[in-house]
Amino acid sequence: MSKVLVTGGAGFLGSHLCDRLLADGHTVICIDNLQTGSEKNISHLAGRKDFTFIKHDVIEPIDLEVDRIFNLACPASPPHYQADPVRTAKTSVFGAINMLELAKKNNARILQASTSEVYGNPLVHPQPENYLGNVNPDGIRSCYDEGKRMAETLFFDYHRQYGVDIRVIRIFNTYGPRMNPEDGRVVSNFIVQALKGEDITIYGDGNQTRSFCYVDDLIEGMMRMMNCEGFTGPVNLGNPGEFTMLELAEQVLELTGSHSKLVFMPLPGDDPAKRKPVIDLAKEKLGWEPKTALKEGLKKTIAYFEKII
Ligand code: NAD
Ligand code: UDP
Repeated sequence: MSKVLVTGGAGFLGSHLCDRLLADGHTVICIDNLQTGSEKNISHLAGRKDFTFIKHDVIEPIDLEVDRIFNLACPASPPHYQADPVRTAKTSVFGAINMLELAKKNNARILQASTSEVYGNPLVHPQPENYLGNVNPDGIRSCYDEGKRMAETLFFDYHRQYGVDIRVIRIFNTYGPRMNPEDGRVVSNFIVQALKGEDITIYGDGNQTRSFCYVDDLIEGMMRMMNCEGFTGPVNLGNPGEFTMLELAEQVLELTGSHSKLVFMPLPGDDPAKRKPVIDLAKEKLGWEPKTALKEGLKKTIAYFEKII
């Protein structure tokens, strides 16, 4: 069993990953600066001998003894990563350097949580890993998109230059319990709005598409990638089911029984028009594909939000 570091471990995905690692018998160190995450997400783990939480910002180096590192620290929701874009870029880039240095020192395997945003507003649809993307370097999403692209570059350079044992996954929109209700991403926004009877905020005309993956499926893919031998990635992890935001809103209204009205608001800058992963590589190398249909995942997520709001 390994000593595993999870950066961003108090966040939505990170806290599910900590649970999974502990269930598999590993010892977990979670570091997080609580910028968008919450100690509530890991409060059920407090007091366990095999779990340690350290409040720390990955922009600063840290010295720990670990066998494996999952690097998830980074705000993921557009309103949050755009609130302090310079800090977002530093988190991605300095965070990657600090964690790669730690991996190098410990001879540890390290996995980077990259993103479908590396494809920008894609001109190829659906997106395979060898598509190099269509990314604006100067827009409001660039701190995140380019930060994540630079982090991937650093991972591959540490691999080529120093032999660091890397894994890179490109995560497509993932949702589920423990999303922050104030997070601002579309699934949590629509569910919270529907449950509160507030207007459902559609940005643009609602015909843009996303492919939504349920958190349990994503964590399974992430674990398989970390445990896979001889394959660095990058590999897409996501659910190829593609929906418009109008279709998502309809499903949320149906499943919640809400009478909320749709309101249309301006589309934020550089918002990708469509997004859908090609997951052939994940199928071939990891034997992985998502199992949870959108409706089923939404039901579980709605049940969570019903309890907390
Ligand atoms: P999240 O905001 O819930 O989690 C991010 C966590 O990182 C939070 O707990 C936050 O406090 C922490 N963090 C942020 N900056 C930090 C810093 N400088 N130092 C230490 N901790 C810091 O978001 P999430 O959805 O759980 O995303 C986790 C990771 O997965 C992110 O790297 C994100 O870019 C990536 N990702 C997520 C999705 C998705 O759909 N959920 C898609 C693509 C990529
Ligand atoms: N979106 C929306 N209403 C909201 C929040 C988001 O219509 O209240 C749209 C957003 O413009 C984007 C899509 O939903 O087209 C997904 O947004 P999210 O922030 O969840 O993820 P990302 O754009 O990073 O994929």
